[in-house]
Amino acid sequence: EKLVKHYPLGGGIFNRDPLVVRAVEDVSFSVGAGETLCIVGESGCGKSTVARLLMRLVDPTNGRVLLEGTDIASLKKNELRNWRRRMQMVFQDPYSSLNPRLTAAQIITEPVENFERLGHRKRQALAAELLQKVGLAPEIMHRLPSELSGGQRQRLAIARALSLKPSIIIADEAVSALDVSVQAQILNLLMDLQEQTGIAFVFISHDLGVVEHIGHRVAVMYLGRIVELAPCEALFTKPVHPYTEALIAAAPVPDPTRVRLEAPVEGEVPSPINPPSGCAFHPRCPFAVERCRTTVPPSVPMADGRVVACHVRAPSAEFPGRQEMAGS
Ligand code: SF4
Ligand code: MG
Repeated sequence: EKLVKHYPLGGGIFNRDPLVVRAVEDVSFSVGAGETLCIVGESGCGKSTVARLLMRLVDPTNGRVLLEGTDIASLKKNELRNWRRRMQMVFQDPYSSLNPRLTAAQIITEPVENFERLGHRKRQALAAELLQKVGLAPEIMHRLPSELSGGQRQRLAIARALSLKPSIIIADEAVSALDVSVQAQILNLLMDLQEQTGIAFVFISHDLGVVEHIGHRVAVMYLGRIVELAPCEALFTKPVHPYTEALIAAAPVPDPTRVRLEAPVEGEVPSPINPPSGCAFHPRCPFAVERCRTTVPPSVPMADGRVVACHVRAPSAEFPGRQEMAGS
């Protein structure tokens, strides 16, 4: 709810204005049991910071994260342990997130052993069960991460995340380092696991093809803000925000019958240090009007269930857009 994360950068040049990285600005969304919410955007748009805020790896400058109705910032030490069981994370590079000195069995049973001591036999049984869940042969149990392929390592990271039976997994670029064919296998594995267990995913990716495959709803981020949040199919077939439209137009289209919309986004993503005023997309937006330069567009719920922040495409009661323009 209304998450904000600013990183102060110290004094700035000649100690004038202190520099602040506005990594996340006023981000709100929810994800339900059995649902996959994707967060998509170019690198530096704040999506990984959102993941870190959800996991309480960093504290928000403002706003809060609720898990099943409880504000995670209010949890006491003993409650925190229990909360950690229910929320797990899978990272992009399984190689650097797995301890190279532990065997596959030790890696995936370690989270459970932080809560209860398993004897040798129980550990082996749990390891075999988890490996089976993620489609790995029990024989790899004794191998080190360096003896596994990239796809096997990512399956291992998923098995590790599953070991505590979480209600939600945050996956940050979880398939980005893998070959396309292995990507598809991992995405299908995640979807199967979701169907079996009702687990929720927050799936962060810069890859629209991946998002379209796995997402139920998609949040598009630009310079720290969600500019459009919509059901997956609606977003891809009829993007409303000019940035969403440009992103989809710029992505490689595997289906040649799909019509490309508009031209790809021109120009570079501006820096999150002192981002542009008003709508941060205005320097690159072909539809910008005067108000875009001065006023941040509010998030407006649309009739089809999506939320869009754009003065022109989603006029609000506060800034009625068309009517106002017609009258002026
Ligand atoms: Fe473009 Fe203005 Fe909409 Fe921003 S608010 S996306 S600048 S039209
Ligand atoms: Mg990232």
